[in-house]
Amino acid sequence: MLTLDTIRGAPKALLHDHLDGGLRPATVVDLAREFGYQRLPTTDVDELASWFRRGADRKSLELYLETFEHTVGVLQDRDAIMRVAAECAEDLAADRVVYAEVRYAPELSTEKGLTLDEVVEANLEGFRLGSARAAEAGQPIVMKVLVTAMRQAARSVEVAECAIRWRDAGVVGFDIAGPEAGYRPTRHLEAFEAVRKENFHITIHAGEGFGLPSIWEALQFCGAERLGHGVRIVDDITALPDGSYSLGRLAAFVRDRRVPLEMCPTSNVHSGAATSIAEHPFDLLRRLRFRVTVNTDNRLMSNVSMSSELKVLDETFGLGLGELEWLTINAMKSAFAPFDERLRIINEVVKPGYAHLRAAESRVVAHA
Ligand SMILES: [Zn+2]
Repeated sequence: MLTLDTIRGAPKALLHDHLDGGLRPATVVDLAREFGYQRLPTTDVDELASWFRRGADRKSLELYLETFEHTVGVLQDRDAIMRVAAECAEDLAADRVVYAEVRYAPELSTEKGLTLDEVVEANLEGFRLGSARAAEAGQPIVMKVLVTAMRQAARSVEVAECAIRWRDAGVVGFDIAGPEAGYRPTRHLEAFEAVRKENFHITIHAGEGFGLPSIWEALQFCGAERLGHGVRIVDDITALPDGSYSLGRLAAFVRDRRVPLEMCPTSNVHSGAATSIAEHPFDLLRRLRFRVTVNTDNRLMSNVSMSSELKVLDETFGLGLGELEWLTINAMKSAFAPFDERLRIINEVVKPGYAHLRAAESRVVAHA
């Protein structure tokens, strides 16, 4: 079994993490005070941290999402967004995440008058500051933004156009998030068509709070290149009496086309998309060699980091360093950053990092 220190020392890549799901609890309290946000359930940092975690673990995606009221509540000012984005980069870099795509819905930060573009600009500026500080501390990280539209709202075309405007400044793609049941991807077809017309990238939250029709629409109507979660694809996989598995047409398409699954196991247990880590479809999907990646989703609400998530998966399924590297390379291959940049990170950071860890492990074995 891998130690937490080994996992922390391994280069990691993250494709699915929400800016408004990863605030430091102390920062939420600071920002509420600084910007006059009155509705926090408590201003005690520890109590607030456990409030978020209790609020998230209620086995319903809709209830899970309620906790975001307060993180979004303190993200209504440029300086607040910049601070949260900078801390996000620093926190991920300190966990040795070397590449991250972090998403946010700019329409959530317009209550006090910021425009969509101002929100995205503040987010990018925060990532620039945070990654510069991380590099100075010897923990380099490449930070990219995914711009998200809320699926229950009606601003997705505007948001998609905003994402496209910032593509040369660090935005790498477009997503929709929010309650999935009742808000299928084709509701936002026009936004996805605007993005596709510009040869830009799309990932869609699909197959988390709702099943196969959502995944099917995301892929075949909306042009999703990756699936946010996608765990319900197991509904199209049948276990046969001889111990093998039969894939339906949609599951076969997802595997044949190497559609990346942005899996977030702990978050799925909290939102009720999976009953437990041990029962999580991650295990079956990795054994069937789907293009699986591991992600945090909401580090604050689910009390996770990339390292803690990989630790739990290693404890439950026995991943080892080999599979950790496979998952990391899967994520880098599936990233929306330009090909050259991905290749550089794989060849100059990920592979040497794992080679170094393997050499250190064999030295330990040789001395034992
Ligand atoms: Zn998500």
